[in-house]
Amino acid sequence: MSDNGLTREVGVDVSKTMTEKVTPQLEAAAVAELKFADLGLSPAVLDAVTSVGYETPSPIQAECIPHILNGDDVLGIAQTGTGKTAAFALPALCKLDAKINSPQVLVLTPTRELAIQVAEAFTTYAEKLKGFHVLPIYGGQDFRTQLRSLKRGVHVVVGTPGRVMDHMRRETLDLSNLKMVILDEADEMLRMGFIDDVEWIMESVAKNTQIALFSATMPAQILKVTKNYLKNPKEVRIKPKTASHSNITQQYWIVNNNQKLDVLTRILELIQFEGMIIFVKTRQSTGELADKLSARGYAAAALNGDMNQSHREQCIESLKSGRLDIIIATDVAARGIDVERVTHVINYDLPYDVESYVHRVGRTGRAGRKGNAILFAAPRERRLLKTIERETKQTILPYEAPSNEEVTQLRVSSFKEKVADALGSQELEFFNKLAAEFAAEHNMEIAEVAGALAFLAQQEAPLQVKGRSMPGHNNADDRSGDRGGRERNGRDRDRGERGGRDRDRSERGPRTDRDPGVKMQAYRIEVGREHGATPRDIVGAIANEANLSSKFIGNIKLMPNFSVVELPADMPTEVQQQLKQTRIRNQQLDLKVDPRGGEGVGRDDRPARPRRDGGRGRGGEGHRGQRDGGRSRPSNRGSRD
Ligand code: AMP
Repeated sequence: MSDNGLTREVGVDVSKTMTEKVTPQLEAAAVAELKFADLGLSPAVLDAVTSVGYETPSPIQAECIPHILNGDDVLGIAQTGTGKTAAFALPALCKLDAKINSPQVLVLTPTRELAIQVAEAFTTYAEKLKGFHVLPIYGGQDFRTQLRSLKRGVHVVVGTPGRVMDHMRRETLDLSNLKMVILDEADEMLRMGFIDDVEWIMESVAKNTQIALFSATMPAQILKVTKNYLKNPKEVRIKPKTASHSNITQQYWIVNNNQKLDVLTRILELIQFEGMIIFVKTRQSTGELADKLSARGYAAAALNGDMNQSHREQCIESLKSGRLDIIIATDVAARGIDVERVTHVINYDLPYDVESYVHRVGRTGRAGRKGNAILFAAPRERRLLKTIERETKQTILPYEAPSNEEVTQLRVSSFKEKVADALGSQELEFFNKLAAEFAAEHNMEIAEVAGALAFLAQQEAPLQVKGRSMPGHNNADDRSGDRGGRERNGRDRDRGERGGRDRDRSERGPRTDRDPGVKMQAYRIEVGREHGATPRDIVGAIANEANLSSKFIGNIKLMPNFSVVELPADMPTEVQQQLKQTRIRNQQLDLKVDPRGGEGVGRDDRPARPRRDGGRGRGGEGHRGQRDGGRSRPSNRGSRD
């Protein structure tokens, strides 16, 4: 590949670091030097950014933040995954006057999911701003609830155009103190038919309101909006030239965030790799993922901007020498790494932009060797994926995820190899005698004894893969699969274009395949129909996060704002904790025992069937026992299914 083909072209009015076409080396240095602290953000907002763990501003942030702080209108040509939310939210927060208790910033988004997501981002970035309130408002949600919150006082409103317009018409949204309007994903609002509402809103706000418009593309109607309402906008557009990576195989895997670790461990198990760099977005993630991989038996370490230079160099040296096989890095820390034995780059989190992608991918396939790059993208990040393909003029193929049977087959082959190795290299006399003795004592065939021993040997790393296929496997019963069921997890469904099947099955009917030996308990989770959750989302997320076979997930009752789900009564505390933090449709589940005892969920009062272990396995132990029999969370390499 040729990094040298990479230049950055930016719009007319850009910040000091971005004014010219620069070589990647210079550009890297310029961006690397630029810190959030250089952008003029208020100390409280800066503090929050530090605690979220962002190392450096993404290009769109580096450019937009100073403009917005300066009071300029901004036209940002950017899409999801580039960090555009922080690009407008951080400076917008700096402009708020905490003493004024009415909306000062209005963000318009095409979907309620995005409204909720943006509102959450504001909450995160306003962590250190006392008394700050943001309110998402969108259709489908109770008007009175929104009204109550508006009356209590909010500083930022994030809403879908229709509902915002309704509030404005009814005069329930006081925009007299409005300082700024942000149009997020303007082209999507156009595509979804909201453009008239958007224009109506723009007409109604005071002429001196600052405006920032973000759009991935610039169709004529958006250009018209820009011309009509933005005053001398600063245009922020980052356009890389193409760079070719002809010696690198590039693939993508559409995967939800909560499935990434599973998918990664499966990949690590399946592929033959020498050295690997896994890219994530925050320095926290580098450490967390390094810990998780180390716990699974991989020689993995984090590489991030918090580490001093010599520590970073040591880390890269270890990757070179083979003391480490995997480095989990942020973009900044991995800049320029040149290690020949890196056979794979995994984009665990999507890069901000095409340039970062090109740089990341270029860390493999060094010195003319062949390289491989795999990109994880959430269903709603497909657009950036398409942009990468378009701008690099390269096809990124879907990763062909193997079926459960194929994975089992692979594991069996490698197990057989290990047995053959042991037969060839170990002194087995003692063990042969032991097996023969056991067979004679129990009047068994030697094959039966060998079978039991093989079972014991694989317990930590089960050979058979059971349960649902990995997302990405094109299999008829893969209900969360990419090419098929997975589409339904994406945005189209979010927009209420749901197929009848999901809607009809708002409850998960009485289960017939549940393990009758498990006492079930009704739990309340804080996500419901109004949030767009479906039983399938709930089963998928719980099964993944708690590593719980779906047969231990009982009836589900979807309510408007929460749901009740039956799960084993004796789930270990750590699993419950995990589920408290799990998110579905951007809602934290905050799982707790249902105070109403699951009323109306189809209570399961069946007495627990006597257990084969005579009841020894009650409580947390019992649950763990069941999990091990099904989907256990093993401690070592490649054993999770
Ligand atoms: P967005 O494009 O706004 O949807 O952001 C995509 C993701 O990037 C979100 O998960 C953000 O939390 C994350 N993000 C935004 N800015 C940064 C940054 N400077 N460093 C690391 N992650 C970031």
